[in-house]
Amino acid sequence: MASLYHRARVMTCAGTGVDPLGMIADGAVLCEAGRVVWVGPDEDADAACRALDVVAEERIDLGGRLLTPGLVDCHTHAVFAGDRSAEFALRARGASYLEIAAAGGGIAATLVPTRAASDADLQRLTVDRLVAARATGTTTIEVKSGYDLTVAGELRLLRVIARAGAQAGVNVVPTLLCHVIPPERKADRDVYVRELAGVLVPTVAADGLASAVDIYCDEGAFTRDESELVLRAARDAGLGVKAHVGQFSDQGAAELCAALGALSVDHLEQVSDAAIAALAAAGTVAVMLPGACVQLRLPPPPVEKLRAAGIPLAVASDLNPGSSYSSSLPLQMWMATTHFSMSVEEAWLGVTRVAARALGLSDRGLLAPGARADLVAWNAEHPAAIPYQYGANLVDRVIVA
Ligand SMILES: [Zn+2]
Repeated sequence: MASLYHRARVMTCAGTGVDPLGMIADGAVLCEAGRVVWVGPDEDADAACRALDVVAEERIDLGGRLLTPGLVDCHTHAVFAGDRSAEFALRARGASYLEIAAAGGGIAATLVPTRAASDADLQRLTVDRLVAARATGTTTIEVKSGYDLTVAGELRLLRVIARAGAQAGVNVVPTLLCHVIPPERKADRDVYVRELAGVLVPTVAADGLASAVDIYCDEGAFTRDESELVLRAARDAGLGVKAHVGQFSDQGAAELCAALGALSVDHLEQVSDAAIAALAAAGTVAVMLPGACVQLRLPPPPVEKLRAAGIPLAVASDLNPGSSYSSSLPLQMWMATTHFSMSVEEAWLGVTRVAARALGLSDRGLLAPGARADLVAWNAEHPAAIPYQYGANLVDRVIVA
């Protein structure tokens, strides 16, 4: 069945030059079999149906609402159990992330309840978070493993992620995350890192459990050389590579990621000018995570330098139990425009087309023939209204495929 969404202010996110959002004031989008087949002015819709030999059995009048691609969240840690609200309260009183981690909090505090949770409980918790993300406009969401850290446990998390996505009615992109060295493996960390590169990564690739491998290269996590061993194994196995880079300190991982042709480098609060040049040459996306940055009271990344170098900027929620417990991309757009010096247009492209690119996907994050029919209608007319009315949920309806 074909559906025509019409009488809409269409944002294609496929524009250029002075109109990067590709706005169509009185627009329509024709969808069939889960794909967009035509986008254009409302007055041309009937002629387009005839030319394409498509009968629009369903016509949805959007009453002048803004109609955009479904949002793409390209960086989340949505599969976990346990509660760390006490850490939030400590930080609100001034304790730092690294102080809390050193006192037994942080990522290690999520390992124990996640390892103990049943598959069914983990899936239920994850589905709840995916449903909440969808309610604020997200139709594709990357979800990283990383809160078990044993080989068998990480494989289990990736399987839970795939099942949760199917149940929640959103498109899920599972990523293997090598997060930190688990406490019980600190004494033989070299052996652990070789297990990741030699066993876990090849198994994930062989079983088709993830399309990319991410590694947290920072103080308290993996070193640059350890990251290189794991990411080279990922690339050799045919998987995409990405990394958490420079959240607290610059370990040189951005240059490594550029050399490996990474899809994205994420965080980038600390990054050198040489690394920025290398990332620009490699075409790697920089993923901005303003929620975590603001909550941890870190200095923002050098957005002006990244922009000047021509590096594509994505914006993601970093949904996780420690530093950013939110699945709302509209809220991230507000922080991107108020705290990260990004324009409204950059923020929108950052949660749509550029976010899709950070996942290696070209069939979403824009409205154009052939793209997935993932759409969001908003109770708003102007793109700026979404970050402007921060905290409000302006979603009218979400359409997935
Ligand atoms: Zn993260």
